[in-house]
Amino acid sequence: MDFTFSEEQEMFRAMFRDFSAKEIAPQAEELDHEEKPALGALRKAAQQGFLGATLPEEYFGAELDYTSYAMLIETLAADSVSTAVTLATHVSLVAMSILNHGTPEQREEWLPLLAAGEVIGAFALTEPDAGSDVQAVATRATPDGDQVTLDGVKTWVANGEIAGLFLVFAQGAEGMDAYLVPQDTPGLTVGYREPTLGLRSATFNTLYLEGCRVSEANRLGQPGEGGSIAQQAQDRMAVALAAAGLGVSENAIQVAAQYATERVQFGVPIAQKQAIQGYIAEAKIEVEALRYLVYHAAWLVDQRGDYGFDASVVKAFGARVARSVTNRMVQVMGGYGYMEDYPMARKYRDARALHIIGGPTELHDFQIAQRIFADLDMDIAP
Ligand SMILES: Cc1cc2nc3c(=O)[nH]c(=O)nc-3n(C[C@H](O)[C@H](O)[C@H](O)COP(=O)(O)OP(=O)(O)OC[C@H]3O[C@@H](n4cnc5c(N)ncnc54)[C@H](O)[C@@H]3O)c2cc1C
Repeated sequence: MDFTFSEEQEMFRAMFRDFSAKEIAPQAEELDHEEKPALGALRKAAQQGFLGATLPEEYFGAELDYTSYAMLIETLAADSVSTAVTLATHVSLVAMSILNHGTPEQREEWLPLLAAGEVIGAFALTEPDAGSDVQAVATRATPDGDQVTLDGVKTWVANGEIAGLFLVFAQGAEGMDAYLVPQDTPGLTVGYREPTLGLRSATFNTLYLEGCRVSEANRLGQPGEGGSIAQQAQDRMAVALAAAGLGVSENAIQVAAQYATERVQFGVPIAQKQAIQGYIAEAKIEVEALRYLVYHAAWLVDQRGDYGFDASVVKAFGARVARSVTNRMVQVMGGYGYMEDYPMARKYRDARALHIIGGPTELHDFQIAQRIFADLDMDIAP
């Protein structure tokens, strides 16, 4: 087993760090406070090929393997989890769904635009009465000749305010369907932007579909295939979100450790205190464990097998690590960790979202338990 990165992956990592240091870090704090998406940085990310990170070159993508892409998400999240989530929604949930399930015409139409950042993608699955239980989706897809009418309400749609294309899930005659719905389609309205605890530089909106007519040709995949398309997208997203958890945790340790060398109490830097050393060492152990789970799960994505179990493991662990590490790093920084004028408070708020977005930890725990009990011939229900 060889755990080293290739020369190319090391080169990518250096490029991601350079980009994030120049384009993301300097404005992350201000944009979070102003609750604005990093539109300028997204444009520059598109120029670097990051918005088409895993797409093939024929669609103007950067054709990165998923491990390199996970490194990109990790690096961005170190400076801004909001921007990492924005990009992961666009790439893992939307662009890759079109790549994997789209017709040649759908790929030709959308992938170059998504790769260029001319269109940002959003994923509309959750509804007021359908969260963990996605089978409860009530949005309807009603056929009408070669058209389909979509009616329903979607909640907390990441990138809602900046998206040009929505991947919408709705119940059709044969089960759940997935539709590509351009933002300017009559009957689609981007509504209320939810104020959030963290991720304030990302937008989460309600989406209204009222008599929203699209062509049958906008359906992604076969009739009834929407549930499987959503699950595959969520598995990819789970790995990306774990990478975001890794990035924010690593950076929180760096920031807090630096602070501990500078903050003097009782005549010595607090880094000299065993309690502080313990917080930092425990956090580092968790981060190192997460690192190998993330890269392994990312590698599995490229093997194209069923990695749902590993996706749940890494997602649940990533969320736990990000929460516990940022929580302890707030403690290392004392009152400065709690104050909004210093970056640790933002990291703590952002990390908290990782337990919910992309499916709550309890559901991932259930999926892990389900596999274990299945091996013992016992079915369990969520
Ligand atoms: C910041 C953010 C961004 C999001 N972005 C998007 C997006 O872009 N697109 C999208 O479609 N959705 C998005 N979501 C929605 C997200 O996927 C849902 O919030 C999530 O799936 C959970 O659904 P819920 O919030 O309705 O919680 P519920 O399903 O109501 O669950 C509430 C609690 O009950 C627990 N629970 C529920 N069922 C079980 C069970 N069977 N066993 C044990 N515990 C259970 C849950 O784990 C949770 O702790 C986003 C959410 C957030 C917070």
